Amino acid sequence: MKKAKDIMTTKNLTRLVVGMAVLMTLLATYVVVTNRRPALISNTSGNECRSVVVVTSGDTLSKLLSDQGLSHSEITAIAEVLKSDAGISTLRADKDKIEFQREKDDSPVSKIVVIPSPWRQVELTCDQDGVWKCNTVDIERDVRAVYRAGEILDGDSFYLAGMRAGIPAGILADVYDLLAFEMDFERDIRAGQKFSVMYEENFSEGKKIDNGRVIAISFQALRGDVKMYRFRKADGTTGYYDAEGNGAIKSLKRTPINNAKITSSFSGRRKHPVLGYTRAHKGVDFRAATGTPIPAAGAGRVVARSYNRGHGNFVKIRHNGSYETLYAHMSRFAKGVNVGTTVRQGQIIGYAGSTGMSTGPHLHYEIIKNGKHVNPMTVKLPAISNLGAADKTKFVEYRKLVDKAIEQLKDKPNLFIQL
Ligand SMILES: [Zn+2]
Repeated sequence: MKKAKDIMTTKNLTRLVVGMAVLMTLLATYVVVTNRRPALISNTSGNECRSVVVVTSGDTLSKLLSDQGLSHSEITAIAEVLKSDAGISTLRADKDKIEFQREKDDSPVSKIVVIPSPWRQVELTCDQDGVWKCNTVDIERDVRAVYRAGEILDGDSFYLAGMRAGIPAGILADVYDLLAFEMDFERDIRAGQKFSVMYEENFSEGKKIDNGRVIAISFQALRGDVKMYRFRKADGTTGYYDAEGNGAIKSLKRTPINNAKITSSFSGRRKHPVLGYTRAHKGVDFRAATGTPIPAAGAGRVVARSYNRGHGNFVKIRHNGSYETLYAHMSRFAKGVNVGTTVRQGQIIGYAGSTGMSTGPHLHYEIIKNGKHVNPMTVKLPAISNLGAADKTKFVEYRKLVDKAIEQLKDKPNLFIQL
């Protein structure tokens, strides 16, 4: 990958970088770093001893501290200050790391650094009076915007085409989540469709650490081009908007489970696979292995969590406005989901199965609008948020800059924009 310096020397891109800098200042879309320091721990003094422990399953803070020779009262004090000052009460296996520092090999621990993410370190030090103090340090990140474009080939899935285009799996999952409001990945995918994604890559000291957020998406869908842009409103909240500034996040998802194949669509009349006679199919069936988590299609309140002969185990959610959704044939319900429970969009409400009148594991999904069943794949869904006049003006300005940036990055996979 070319360095930012190389871009700066390219005349037309200099303008672009400046443009993006203005844009980003305007919208403040990147994390404000409170306490700047170089990433990860570097050995500052020659004879200081450092050891890093990666938390594994079964590890507890007290066990790890006790292994380092800390006393019971010190462990209690450290646990208390970690909880009150850094909000850390439990360690996560395979995620958190702890570094122990000593003056010499055989001296007691003088500093403990808890590392919950590549971008945050919690430093614990003991003062002269033996009191443990806690200080949280945010790691400076260097954010780059990159652009990847691809095309669906014959027999492709969007996932395969995305991987081929060099889009990381995590970013593809986010793109799926966003596009699932607008399209159906089973039926709307055709060879020749082009797509592109602009997203963030986070670097520290010249090394890529992880990926950030999706900045913009474009997809040539059957119904026309779907475009989405991440935008920060004046009130500080961010959301995704289409080219006109309409909210891209809909109140409900057409396909609650990403990338699930449709095995039976909505229809006024169909031959029922179990009953044998013709009757309406009031929802859409998605193939899903038993145990596949089922997320709520939108935020709302659970109004039914029950069993009947047809639906088997099912959950019904009432959403804002006039919509309800129903999820049937579950093998089991998610813990804590009861009648009256408030759920957020994407929250797991149960697990796929084949209970009730069903020929195999799948999710039967219904959208009910004003008491009437509608086709989840075609119903026009309301947006969660639209922009006010002032935000819309800013959005249009922002969108033009992003489009211009994309134009310049096109067909140049080695270039990036320093944000
Ligand atoms: Zn069904």
